[in-house]
Amino acid sequence: MKLYNTLSKKVEEFKALQEDLKQVKIYACGPTVYDYTHIGHLRKYVMDDILVRVLRHLGYEVKHVQNITDVGHLTSDSDEGEDKMEKGARKYGQTAWEVARKFEAYFWYSMDLMGVARPTLSCRATEHIQSQLEMVLDLEKKGFTYLIEDDGVYFDTAKLNSYGELSGHDPRLATRESRLGEVTGKRNPSDFALWKFEKTGEERQMVWPSPWHPRSFPGWHIECSAMSIEHLGEQLDIHTGGIDHIAVHHANEIAQSETFTGHKPFAKFWVHHNFLRVDGEKMSKSLGNFYTIDDVLKKGFTPQALRLLFLQSHYRSEQNFTWSSLQASQSAFDKLLQFYLEIKENRSSAALVDEAQAQKFTSDFFKALENDLNTAEALAVMWQMLKSDLDNTWKYRLLLEFDRVLGLGLASMTKMEQKANLELKDLSEELQELFREREQARQSKDFAKADQIRKQFAQAGYKLTDQKDTVLIESL
Ligand SMILES: [Zn+2]
Repeated sequence: MKLYNTLSKKVEEFKALQEDLKQVKIYACGPTVYDYTHIGHLRKYVMDDILVRVLRHLGYEVKHVQNITDVGHLTSDSDEGEDKMEKGARKYGQTAWEVARKFEAYFWYSMDLMGVARPTLSCRATEHIQSQLEMVLDLEKKGFTYLIEDDGVYFDTAKLNSYGELSGHDPRLATRESRLGEVTGKRNPSDFALWKFEKTGEERQMVWPSPWHPRSFPGWHIECSAMSIEHLGEQLDIHTGGIDHIAVHHANEIAQSETFTGHKPFAKFWVHHNFLRVDGEKMSKSLGNFYTIDDVLKKGFTPQALRLLFLQSHYRSEQNFTWSSLQASQSAFDKLLQFYLEIKENRSSAALVDEAQAQKFTSDFFKALENDLNTAEALAVMWQMLKSDLDNTWKYRLLLEFDRVLGLGLASMTKMEQKANLELKDLSEELQELFREREQARQSKDFAKADQIRKQFAQAGYKLTDQKDTVLIESL
């Protein structure tokens, strides 16, 4: 498989550290659980999921570890600002611990709906305080740290020649003027907090004793180094994350981990996902374009349509989400499901012919995915296959095989689900007229008539369910 590596800035042939054992160790930066998971996050984890599924298809045993950041991630990348967990606690009127568990649960709920396979291991920062502390003590012993009074323990990036290799520029050359709001006492602008202390009067909810301060907590970056080394060992095959993590978070993870292990390369491949924009803008609560999976469901779309939309772009390109693009993807998904159900029903048990053609589609499909996860091209091959004159038995087999990697969950879908959520225009004209009559009856609170019409719909094979501001139409 070919994979782009941020470290070399090239598409490279992927070879595992333990290629002979066919084992791959992946560490993925997980969510900071202080607020709702939004669709930008969904895209990142769907793309991680595709990578894992492709590696498994290639016969690798994949150990996929993903963290849950439930302490220490500050609102600013420059070690200033508030802990996001404490901020979330204030916003939702709950304790930081309650907020952490609530939004972790929402994260898994979103992942399950999106068909993202659970990682082999999910680990919480608050449950790895000791290993983080031990790592900082080791870095201190090796002389790579310094203390800033009443603030924290810092990593001295000037002591590491390779610092900043990942982003291709040396952030130590950044001028101090460009880093306003910087912690005073830092020796270099790129130095970063390994351990932070509670400030006077701050009264944090999440604190632990440490040799430097009785009420302290780990810095954000150290958790990824400590947990990945604890669960996967000193060297990873692949580390994933968003492109916003290249310059600071991942540069710092490399600095900590490689200093700790005696300069063993931390990760062989660094895979970074690009952003999702909404209507051409960066997603933000203040712009009102911050959407969750529930917003998608409320508008009558299925999670599979959103997943299919993500797969139409390349993970290294920025994608622009609009509701009309999701509408188009929903139509495509409905069509795909219809194809699947038709070929499933109409397959024959006759001997399979066209084997050569089927093999060509299979090899083209996986060749696209093995070329730096070109999901858009793989989807194009899938559609070509469905529209070809291959017999239904082959189409059925290939579609299921392709979907084991695409993860749209076709195998578990039935006709009922396909027909759920019909639109008014899908009904006959007589029924559309009757539907409007019922709406008028409902408005004038003539519930007897509305019920009568509901029964007529049932006789015609449709179920009507009145919801807050819409009526759900399903076929029986
Ligand atoms: Zn991380």
